[in-house]
Formats: sequence, C-alpha cells, structure tokens
Amino acid sequence: MEPINRSNRRYTSNQAPRRHNTYSQRPRYPRRESGPGRRRPRRRGLASQAMTVILLPLTIAAVLIVIFSRTARPNSEPGYLMGYNQATTGQESQALPGYYDYPAGAYTTDGGSPASNIPLTRIPVRDIEDTGYLALVNRQHAIQSEPYGGLLTGAWPTVAVSRVYDMYLHRSALRAVSEMFSSARQDEVAAFFVSSGYRSYYAQANIYGDGSNSDFVQPPGHSEHHTGLAADILAPGIGMADMAYTPEGAWLAANSYRYGLILRYPQHATAITGIAFEPWHFRYVGRAHAYFMKRNNLVLEEYIAYIHNYGKISFEKSGQTYYVMHKVPKDGMIYVPYETEFVISTDNKGGFIVLVWE
Ligand SMILES: [Zn+2]
Repeated sequence: MEPINRSNRRYTSNQAPRRHNTYSQRPRYPRRESGPGRRRPRRRGLASQAMTVILLPLTIAAVLIVIFSRTARPNSEPGYLMGYNQATTGQESQALPGYYDYPAGAYTTDGGSPASNIPLTRIPVRDIEDTGYLALVNRQHAIQSEPYGGLLTGAWPTVAVSRVYDMYLHRSALRAVSEMFSSARQDEVAAFFVSSGYRSYYAQANIYGDGSNSDFVQPPGHSEHHTGLAADILAPGIGMADMAYTPEGAWLAANSYRYGLILRYPQHATAITGIAFEPWHFRYVGRAHAYFMKRNNLVLEEYIAYIHNYGKISFEKSGQTYYVMHKVPKDGMIYVPYETEFVISTDNKGGFIVLVWE
C-alpha cells in the first residue's frame, strides 16, 4: 500500500466520495427560485410522452448506478487508508507508550501549531456531512440522531455473526471489523464473530430491563450500539468475560486500532467510562483517531476532553501529518478547512471534531 499523497486524494465534485467534505463541493445554495418570470411549460405531444416513458427509467437507472458507484468506493476515507501500512508490515507493533504517557513530539498544542496555518472558511452546519465516528454516547450523553448517515448494513455474510438476522453495523465499522477478522485468521488467532451490532432504542430498552445489569448495559438512548459503530466481538468456545484472559482477547486489544477500532471499556478506565471492563466491545472511530488514542492510552471520553482542552492537536503517523480540531458552531455556522480535505464528526456534545491531513 503506498502512502497517501495529495494527488490521489483530489476529486472533482462529481467524483467525490460521499463523506468527504471540501469547500469546493459547497455550498449547496443559493437555490434557484421560481417566480413570475418563469415560463409555463407547454403541453407535450404523444411522442414526447412516449419518450418520457422510455427515458425516465433509463435516467433513474443511471442515477442509481452513479449513487452506488460513489457509495461503494472502497479506501475512500483517511480513517480507512491510514494504518494499512502498519497492518501489512507490522512496523508499529512494538513499543507503544504506556498509560498516560504522552511522548515528546507526539503532538503539538495550539500555540504555534502548524495547524494554525490551515486556512478556514465558514459554512452552514447543515452543509457538513457528519460521520458520527467520534460521537460520544454514554450515560451522560444520549445519542442525538441514529443511525449516523443511514449507513447500516447487514453484517452477514461479510463477517461471521452469532445470528444472521437482525445484525447490522455502520458500513465503515463493518469494513473495519471484516478486515480485522481477516487478519486474525491469517495470524491464526481465532475465527471471531460479531455477537451484537446496531441496536434500536427499543432493543436497548429490552436488554436494559430494570437496570439491574447497569454496570455493563447503558440505558436506552445512551448505548454506543445505537450508532451502529460498536460491535461486540467474541470467539467460539470462549465466554464473554473470559475474552480478557485469552490470547484471542489480547490480540483484539493489541491490534484493533490498526483497523480504526478501539477497545471502548478497558479495565483501567472504568471510573471514566462508567462501564465495567468489556473485553468484547469495540467501537469504530477511524484509523487516525484510533492510532492516537491507542498510543496515548486514552478512552473516548478522555480523547474528546483532550481535544476540547487544546482546541487543536497534530500528530505524525507513517510520515503523514494529521490535525484534529474542535469547532463549535455559532449561529448555525461553523469554521471548516478551506480547500483542504477533511472528515468531520459531531462529538455529540454540541461541537464537532475535524480531522485534516495534508
Ligand atoms: Zn457492546
């Protein structure tokens, strides 16, 4: 896999993958308005109506083909591309810093950060395409809209599942889980399977019941499973809790970040997450964020707080510089990078987190 460079990340507006935001694609306004000056359409003849009957289905088919070719484009997001080098070469497998160890030079803060050189422009919040990858959904923060982007996909048969019906994941999470399972098979670790993916409010209400298991289960509206970005992952013949003490569970915890997935409720952070150690629960955040969180041993609550605190951070990964910025909309408008590609996600706390790479 070759490193990302600018040239292969350039798209014209009609080729751009759906979730990429560039200002050149924006804005979608002003909209043309009808008015008294508009001519009334003439009545059409039989031949013209016949043409419509033939052309309309063809046009619809063409539009559908365009939509599918755009949504099905693989490798189109930085969170997906990045880390692929490590996954194949294993270069990053040694010596990740430990708990709360911020290595010198791993990031720069707002003061004098190169990130301040990124030109920004203001656009309406309604024009951004929110991935939801960093939406913080926990006991304090109920999910605002579910599922993000309407991108739920049946997990079977892309990955092994505990039941083939009613098992959905967000498309990005499914792709990440699928890649991770493939690597696990290659490493002869285990034939992992997904035991829980997307849950509706009502499904969560059922699981939550009277709340007697609330160490592990969030109340309805507060579960990460509502996003479709969380997957419970198990291996055959190993009980859920036993995942923590097996090579299978250790492999997941050590390697998931390569695929943009984080161990969401680790043992050391139960006081922060409010959830007991769940060695089976993984959350998709994208590879850049997952890499930084893993390297610095941060859970999502800490990472969001960290970005809020600094406003802007940057870090290097495989020779690529990434910038992460926290932006809060004002009067329905938000500052985003101008003429630089970025991916943006709500933090589900009223702000947005922008990932930029150049
Ligand atoms: Zn879970």
